[in-house]
Amino acid sequence: RTLVDSTSEPEERAMEAAMRPKNLDEFVGQHRVRNQLSLVLEASKMRGRVADHVLLSGPPGLGKTTLAMIVAAEMQAPLRISSGPAIQNAGDLAAILSSLTEGEVLFLDEIHRLSRPAEEMLYLAMEDFRVDIIVGKGAGATAIPLDLPPFTLVGATTRAGLLPGPLRDRFGFTGHLDFYAREELELVLRRSAVLMDLRVTSAGFTEIARRSRGTPRITNRLLRRVRDWALVHRKELIDAESASAALDMYEVDERGLDRLDRAVIHALCVKFGGGPVGLSTLAIAVGEETETVEEVAEPFLVREGLLGRTPRGRIATAAAWQHLGLRAPEGAPG
Ligand code: ATP
Repeated sequence: RTLVDSTSEPEERAMEAAMRPKNLDEFVGQHRVRNQLSLVLEASKMRGRVADHVLLSGPPGLGKTTLAMIVAAEMQAPLRISSGPAIQNAGDLAAILSSLTEGEVLFLDEIHRLSRPAEEMLYLAMEDFRVDIIVGKGAGATAIPLDLPPFTLVGATTRAGLLPGPLRDRFGFTGHLDFYAREELELVLRRSAVLMDLRVTSAGFTEIARRSRGTPRITNRLLRRVRDWALVHRKELIDAESASAALDMYEVDERGLDRLDRAVIHALCVKFGGGPVGLSTLAIAVGEETETVEEVAEPFLVREGLLGRTPRGRIATAAAWQHLGLRAPEGAPG
C-alpha cells in the first residue's frame, strides 16, 4: 500500500468523510477547475437542465471523488458511485444506468478501466440517454432500446490520455487537477485541525504540508499520525519539531517522498546507473505494478524534478542523486 491509497480502515474512512469539503467554497485550491465547474453548474441550474458530463483527471488523492460529491450536492441531486474495475461487463453497466433517477449524478472512478463493450454502451447513454439491452445470444440476439432519464456522468481518471478519444469527446467539461501548493495544503490542515480539536503552530502546519506530496489525502493522513505521536509524547501543542519527529518515524522524508518514491529513485540511480530504463523494468525492480509506478510515484517525482522521462526511458536527475546523498557517476544522464 502506498501513502496515497484509499484507506480501508473504518476510523480513517469516517475521518476522511468528515474532512471532505461539502461545497465549492470549502474546496481549497484548484482555482481554475473550481471556477469553470462552478460556471457549468450555475448555468445548468439557470437553464433548468441536468449538468453536462464532467471528466476529472489527475493523480490519486487530489479531490476527484470530493468534486463529484460536490457536483451532486450543488445540483441537489443524488449520487451513485461505481468504478471501471467494479463493472465487469456491459450488463453491469446497463443495470446501473437503467436504475438511475432523473438528474442523478453517476460517479465512475477509474473510468479508463471500463471494458470495451461497457465503454461503447456508455457512449450512447451519455449522448442520447439511451441504452440498447441485448437479449439472447448469437444470430437470435436482439437489441431492445431503453430510454434513460437525463443524468450527469462524472468520470475520473488518473490520466485523461488513457481515455479513447470518442469517450473523452462526450464530456462537456474536462478538468485537470494538479498537485497542491504547500500554502494550500496548510489551509486544508488548518481546517482539519479544527475538526480534530488539535493545537498546531504555524511552523507545525508548514512542516506537515511540506511533507505531504502535494496531496490533500496525504496531508490529512499525516496529520492523524502526528496527532498520535503527540498524544503518546504528551505534547499539547504540535510544533515543527514534533511534526518532523513524528513523520520521520513514518518514513516520510523532508521532501515528502514516501517509501515507494524513494525506492523508485534509488533503483534508478543504484541499479540502473541513473538510466535510461524502461518503466516496466523499473517497476519490477521495486516490486510494484507498472501502473502504480506510472500513476502514483512518477507524476510526483517528475514534478519534484527528481525523475525525467525521455524517449529511451526514465532517468534520474542530478537532484535525485543529491536527494539520496549519492554522487552521480561520470557520464550519468540528467
Ligand atoms: P482517488 O482518485 O484515489 O479517488 P481523489 O482524487 O478522488 O482520489 P478524494 O477522495 O476526493 O481524492 O480526496 C481525498 C481526501 O482529501 C478527502 O477526504 C478530502 O478530505 C481531502 N481533499 C481533497 N481535495 C480537497 C480540497 N481541495 N480541499 C480540502 N480537502 C480536500
